[in-house]
Amino acid sequence: MPVHFFKSSHEADVFFEKERESEKNKEFRSTSFLEVRDWSIAQNFKVFSSAVAREIAGTEAPNRPQFDLEYNMNPKKPVALLVGNPVSKFLSACKEDKMPLIEALGILKTGQFPSFHFLPQSRYLHGHDQPIYAWLAPDHIDYFWKTMEFGMPPEIYHKSRLEHQSYFLSENEKTIREIYADDFYLYESISKPRQSISSVNKSSTMATMLETFYNSSKRFLRAGFATTPPEALASRQATCKACPEWDATALNNTGRCRKCGCSTWAKLRMATERCPIGKWEAVDKPTN
Ligand code: SF4
Repeated sequence: MPVHFFKSSHEADVFFEKERESEKNKEFRSTSFLEVRDWSIAQNFKVFSSAVAREIAGTEAPNRPQFDLEYNMNPKKPVALLVGNPVSKFLSACKEDKMPLIEALGILKTGQFPSFHFLPQSRYLHGHDQPIYAWLAPDHIDYFWKTMEFGMPPEIYHKSRLEHQSYFLSENEKTIREIYADDFYLYESISKPRQSISSVNKSSTMATMLETFYNSSKRFLRAGFATTPPEALASRQATCKACPEWDATALNNTGRCRKCGCSTWAKLRMATERCPIGKWEAVDKPTN
Protein backbone atom coordinates (compact mmCIF):
# COMPACT_ATOMS: atom_id res chain seq x y z
CA MET A 1 0.00 0.00 0.00
CA PRO A 2 1.62 3.29 -1.04
CA VAL A 3 1.86 6.19 1.41
CA HIS A 4 -0.58 9.04 0.80
CA PHE A 5 -0.58 12.53 2.23
CA PHE A 6 -3.74 14.60 1.95
CA LYS A 7 -3.84 18.36 2.25
CA SER A 8 -7.60 18.41 2.77
CA SER A 9 -10.52 16.12 3.40
CA HIS A 10 -11.69 16.88 -0.16
CA GLU A 11 -8.44 15.42 -1.51
CA ALA A 12 -8.96 12.38 0.72
CA ASP A 13 -12.52 12.00 -0.57
CA VAL A 14 -11.27 12.03 -4.18
CA PHE A 15 -8.64 9.43 -3.31
CA PHE A 16 -11.10 7.15 -1.54
CA GLU A 17 -13.56 7.47 -4.43
CA LYS A 18 -10.82 6.23 -6.80
CA GLU A 19 -10.06 3.39 -4.38
CA ARG A 20 -13.71 2.38 -4.40
CA GLU A 21 -13.82 2.41 -8.20
CA SER A 22 -10.69 0.23 -8.36
CA GLU A 23 -12.25 -2.38 -6.06
CA LYS A 24 -14.01 -3.88 -9.08
CA ASN A 25 -14.93 -7.23 -7.60
CA LYS A 26 -15.83 -6.01 -4.16
CA GLU A 27 -18.89 -4.23 -2.96
CA PHE A 28 -17.79 -0.85 -1.56
CA ARG A 29 -18.77 -0.57 2.03
CA SER A 30 -16.88 2.59 3.03
CA THR A 31 -15.18 0.78 5.88
CA SER A 32 -11.49 0.41 6.67
CA PHE A 33 -9.77 -1.60 9.36
CA LEU A 34 -6.32 -1.50 10.93
CA GLU A 35 -5.01 -4.95 11.82
CA VAL A 36 -3.50 -4.86 15.32
CA ARG A 37 -2.53 -8.08 17.14
CA ASP A 38 -5.84 -9.99 17.68
CA TRP A 39 -8.09 -7.20 16.40
CA SER A 40 -9.27 -5.42 13.28
CA ILE A 41 -9.76 -1.89 14.58
CA ALA A 42 -12.48 0.03 12.74
CA GLN A 43 -11.21 3.42 11.52
CA ASN A 44 -14.08 5.41 12.92
CA PHE A 45 -13.04 8.90 11.84
CA LYS A 46 -13.57 11.67 14.43
CA VAL A 47 -13.74 9.13 17.28
CA PHE A 48 -10.13 9.00 18.53
CA SER A 49 -9.07 7.70 15.10
CA SER A 50 -5.94 9.90 14.97
CA ALA A 51 -4.89 8.79 18.46
CA VAL A 52 -5.36 5.12 17.51
CA ALA A 53 -3.38 5.63 14.30
CA ARG A 54 -0.57 7.39 16.18
CA GLU A 55 -0.29 4.46 18.59
CA ILE A 56 0.02 2.05 15.67
CA ALA A 57 2.30 4.21 13.53
CA GLY A 58 4.59 5.19 16.43
CA THR A 59 5.72 8.53 17.77
CA GLU A 60 7.68 9.44 14.64
CA ALA A 61 4.56 9.41 12.50
CA PRO A 62 3.42 12.61 10.80
CA ASN A 63 0.42 14.55 12.09
CA ARG A 64 -2.24 12.55 10.24
CA PRO A 65 -0.89 8.98 10.35
CA GLN A 66 -4.28 7.39 9.77
CA PHE A 67 -3.86 8.03 6.05
CA ASP A 68 -0.38 6.49 5.96
CA LEU A 69 -1.18 3.14 7.55
CA GLU A 70 -2.03 -0.03 5.72
CA TYR A 71 -5.67 -0.81 6.03
CA ASN A 72 -8.09 -3.54 4.90
CA MET A 73 -11.58 -2.98 3.65
CA ASN A 74 -12.56 -6.41 5.03
CA PRO A 75 -11.70 -7.28 8.64
CA LYS A 76 -9.55 -10.37 9.14
CA LYS A 77 -10.05 -10.63 12.91
CA PRO A 78 -12.75 -9.66 15.44
CA VAL A 79 -13.74 -6.03 14.93
CA ALA A 80 -12.96 -3.49 17.67
CA LEU A 81 -15.18 -0.43 17.38
CA LEU A 82 -14.93 2.74 19.43
CA VAL A 83 -18.35 4.39 19.29
CA GLY A 84 -18.78 8.09 20.01
CA ASN A 85 -21.86 10.17 20.75
CA PRO A 86 -23.34 10.72 17.26
CA VAL A 87 -24.02 14.41 17.93
CA SER A 88 -20.43 15.01 19.14
CA LYS A 89 -19.15 13.20 16.06
CA PHE A 90 -21.31 15.39 13.80
CA LEU A 91 -19.94 18.54 15.50
CA SER A 92 -16.35 17.27 15.19
CA ALA A 93 -16.86 16.51 11.51
CA CYS A 94 -18.15 20.07 10.92
CA LYS A 95 -15.13 21.46 12.76
CA GLU A 96 -12.69 19.29 10.79
CA ASP A 97 -14.23 20.25 7.45
CA LYS A 98 -14.65 23.90 8.54
CA MET A 99 -18.29 23.61 7.54
CA PRO A 100 -21.10 25.60 9.22
CA LEU A 101 -23.36 23.23 11.17
CA ILE A 102 -26.50 24.29 9.38
CA GLU A 103 -24.86 23.80 5.96
CA ALA A 104 -23.68 20.28 6.87
CA LEU A 105 -27.11 19.38 8.20
CA GLY A 106 -28.69 20.71 5.00
CA ILE A 107 -26.51 18.36 2.91
CA LEU A 108 -27.31 15.40 5.18
CA LYS A 109 -31.00 16.15 4.84
CA THR A 110 -30.74 15.67 1.07
CA GLY A 111 -29.38 12.14 1.65
CA GLN A 112 -25.74 13.09 0.88
CA PHE A 113 -22.69 12.99 3.15
CA PRO A 114 -20.59 16.20 3.07
CA SER A 115 -17.40 14.09 3.43
CA PHE A 116 -16.30 10.74 4.80
CA HIS A 117 -16.07 12.37 8.26
CA PHE A 118 -19.87 12.30 8.33
CA LEU A 119 -20.31 8.62 7.45
CA PRO A 120 -22.32 6.73 10.08
CA GLN A 121 -20.55 4.65 12.70
CA SER A 122 -23.08 1.85 12.28
CA ARG A 123 -21.66 1.07 8.81
CA TYR A 124 -19.15 -1.16 10.63
CA LEU A 125 -21.98 -3.50 11.67
CA HIS A 126 -22.58 -4.59 8.11
CA GLY A 127 -20.91 -6.42 5.26
CA HIS A 128 -18.62 -8.86 7.11
CA ASP A 129 -18.90 -11.98 9.25
CA GLN A 130 -16.45 -11.11 12.02
CA PRO A 131 -17.74 -10.73 15.59
CA ILE A 132 -17.96 -7.09 16.69
CA TYR A 133 -16.98 -5.65 20.07
CA ALA A 134 -17.68 -2.07 21.05
CA TRP A 135 -16.37 0.46 23.55
CA LEU A 136 -17.92 3.85 24.28
CA ALA A 137 -15.81 6.92 23.58
CA PRO A 138 -14.68 8.59 25.71
CA ASP A 139 -16.16 6.66 28.68
CA HIS A 140 -14.30 3.40 27.96
CA ILE A 141 -11.17 4.85 26.39
CA ASP A 142 -8.84 3.57 29.14
CA TYR A 143 -10.21 0.02 28.77
CA PHE A 144 -9.87 0.19 24.99
CA TRP A 145 -6.25 1.36 25.18
CA LYS A 146 -5.42 -1.44 27.61
CA THR A 147 -7.07 -4.13 25.46
CA MET A 148 -5.18 -2.94 22.38
CA GLU A 149 -1.92 -2.89 24.40
CA PHE A 150 -1.33 0.76 23.51
CA GLY A 151 0.68 3.23 25.63
CA MET A 152 -0.85 6.06 27.64
CA PRO A 153 -4.54 6.70 26.87
CA PRO A 154 -5.21 9.99 25.05
CA GLU A 155 -6.12 13.08 26.98
CA ILE A 156 -9.86 13.59 27.18
CA TYR A 157 -11.19 17.09 26.83
CA HIS A 158 -14.05 17.60 29.23
CA LYS A 159 -15.18 20.87 27.70
CA SER A 160 -18.36 19.68 26.13
CA ARG A 161 -18.87 20.60 22.50
CA LEU A 162 -22.55 19.99 23.07
CA GLU A 163 -22.83 22.86 25.57
CA HIS A 164 -21.20 25.29 23.11
CA GLN A 165 -23.77 24.42 20.48
CA SER A 166 -26.81 24.34 22.72
CA TYR A 167 -28.93 26.69 20.58
CA PHE A 168 -28.20 24.78 17.36
CA LEU A 169 -28.88 21.47 19.09
CA SER A 170 -32.13 22.58 20.69
CA GLU A 171 -33.36 23.38 17.18
CA ASN A 172 -31.85 20.46 15.29
CA GLU A 173 -31.04 17.50 17.53
CA LYS A 174 -34.26 15.75 16.54
CA THR A 175 -33.22 15.87 12.88
CA ILE A 176 -29.69 14.65 13.63
CA ARG A 177 -31.21 11.80 15.65
CA GLU A 178 -33.42 10.91 12.74
CA ILE A 179 -30.59 10.91 10.20
CA TYR A 180 -28.26 8.93 12.47
CA ALA A 181 -30.97 6.74 14.03
CA ASP A 182 -28.88 3.55 13.74
CA ASP A 183 -25.85 5.25 15.30
CA PHE A 184 -27.94 6.40 18.27
CA TYR A 185 -29.35 2.92 18.63
CA LEU A 186 -25.82 1.48 18.63
CA TYR A 187 -24.44 4.15 21.00
CA GLU A 188 -27.26 3.71 23.48
CA SER A 189 -26.96 -0.10 23.38
CA ILE A 190 -23.42 -0.13 24.78
CA SER A 191 -23.45 -0.43 28.55
CA LYS A 192 -20.00 -1.91 29.24
CA PRO A 193 -16.51 -1.93 27.70
CA ARG A 194 -15.77 -4.59 25.08
CA GLN A 195 -19.45 -5.25 24.62
CA SER A 196 -20.33 -7.87 22.07
CA ILE A 197 -22.82 -6.29 19.74
CA SER A 198 -24.11 -9.50 18.23
CA SER A 199 -27.25 -8.88 20.26
CA VAL A 200 -27.69 -5.33 18.97
CA ASN A 201 -30.28 -5.10 16.27
CA LYS A 202 -28.33 -4.46 13.07
CA SER A 203 -31.00 -2.27 11.55
CA SER A 204 -30.39 -1.83 7.87
CA THR A 205 -31.80 1.69 7.49
CA MET A 206 -28.46 3.51 7.34
CA ALA A 207 -26.72 0.68 5.47
CA THR A 208 -29.43 0.85 2.86
CA MET A 209 -29.11 4.63 2.76
CA LEU A 210 -25.32 4.34 2.29
CA GLU A 211 -25.57 1.73 -0.41
CA THR A 212 -28.31 3.61 -2.16
CA PHE A 213 -26.35 6.85 -1.84
CA TYR A 214 -23.19 5.43 -3.44
CA ASN A 215 -25.03 3.52 -6.14
CA SER A 216 -27.19 6.47 -7.11
CA SER A 217 -24.18 8.84 -6.97
CA LYS A 218 -22.30 6.57 -9.36
CA ARG A 219 -25.22 6.43 -11.79
CA PHE A 220 -25.68 10.20 -11.52
CA LEU A 221 -21.94 10.77 -12.15
CA ARG A 222 -21.86 8.42 -15.16
CA ALA A 223 -24.86 10.22 -16.65
CA GLY A 224 -23.00 13.54 -16.39
CA PHE A 225 -25.01 14.82 -13.40
CA ALA A 226 -28.22 14.68 -15.41
CA THR A 227 -31.13 16.31 -13.60
CA THR A 228 -34.81 15.51 -13.96
CA PRO A 229 -36.74 17.71 -16.42
CA PRO A 230 -39.38 19.94 -14.70
CA GLU A 231 -42.42 18.00 -15.97
CA ALA A 232 -41.04 14.64 -14.89
CA LEU A 233 -40.03 16.14 -11.54
CA ALA A 234 -43.58 17.43 -10.91
CA SER A 235 -45.00 14.02 -11.79
CA ARG A 236 -42.52 12.23 -9.49
CA GLN A 237 -43.32 14.63 -6.64
CA ALA A 238 -47.06 14.06 -7.01
CA THR A 239 -46.57 10.27 -7.04
CA CYS A 240 -44.39 10.27 -3.92
CA LYS A 241 -46.71 12.59 -2.03
CA ALA A 242 -49.59 10.20 -2.65
CA CYS A 243 -47.52 7.13 -1.75
CA PRO A 244 -47.92 5.46 1.69
CA GLU A 245 -44.11 4.92 1.76
CA TRP A 246 -43.48 8.68 1.73
CA ASP A 247 -42.78 10.11 5.18
CA ALA A 248 -43.68 13.77 4.73
CA THR A 249 -42.48 14.95 8.14
CA ALA A 250 -39.01 13.34 8.00
CA LEU A 251 -35.87 15.44 7.69
CA ASN A 252 -37.46 18.68 8.81
CA ASN A 253 -40.46 18.22 6.56
CA THR A 254 -38.40 17.77 3.39
CA GLY A 255 -39.57 14.15 3.22
CA ARG A 256 -38.00 10.73 2.91
CA CYS A 257 -38.87 7.49 1.13
CA ARG A 258 -39.24 4.71 3.71
CA LYS A 259 -38.55 2.03 1.08
CA CYS A 260 -35.04 3.13 0.14
CA GLY A 261 -34.28 5.42 3.10
CA CYS A 262 -33.37 8.28 0.72
CA SER A 263 -34.19 11.92 0.92
CA THR A 264 -36.87 12.23 -1.70
CA TRP A 265 -35.69 15.79 -2.42
CA ALA A 266 -32.36 14.53 -3.85
CA LYS A 267 -33.68 11.31 -5.33
CA LEU A 268 -36.42 13.00 -7.32
CA ARG A 269 -33.97 15.42 -8.90
CA MET A 270 -31.53 12.79 -10.20
CA ALA A 271 -32.72 11.75 -13.67
CA THR A 272 -31.04 8.36 -13.31
CA GLU A 273 -33.09 7.38 -10.22
CA ARG A 274 -36.16 5.17 -10.19
CA CYS A 275 -38.77 4.36 -7.58
CA PRO A 276 -37.83 1.15 -5.70
CA ILE A 277 -41.33 -0.26 -6.18
CA GLY A 278 -41.76 0.80 -9.80
CA LYS A 279 -44.10 3.78 -9.41
CA TRP A 280 -41.84 5.95 -11.58
CA GLU A 281 -38.83 5.24 -13.80
CA ALA A 282 -35.49 6.83 -14.71
CA VAL A 283 -35.75 9.60 -17.30
CA ASP A 284 -34.39 8.71 -20.75
CA LYS A 285 -33.64 12.22 -21.97
CA PRO A 286 -32.62 14.24 -18.94
CA THR A 287 -31.68 17.90 -18.82
CA ASN A 288 -28.10 18.78 -17.94
S1 SF4 B 1 -39.86 6.65 -4.36
FE1 SF4 B 1 -41.55 5.21 -4.78
S2 SF4 B 1 -41.79 4.07 -2.88
FE2 SF4 B 1 -40.58 5.89 -2.37
S3 SF4 B 1 -42.12 7.39 -1.73
FE3 SF4 B 1 -41.77 7.71 -3.91
S4 SF4 B 1 -43.36 6.52 -4.93
FE4 SF4 B 1 -43.23 5.77 -2.82
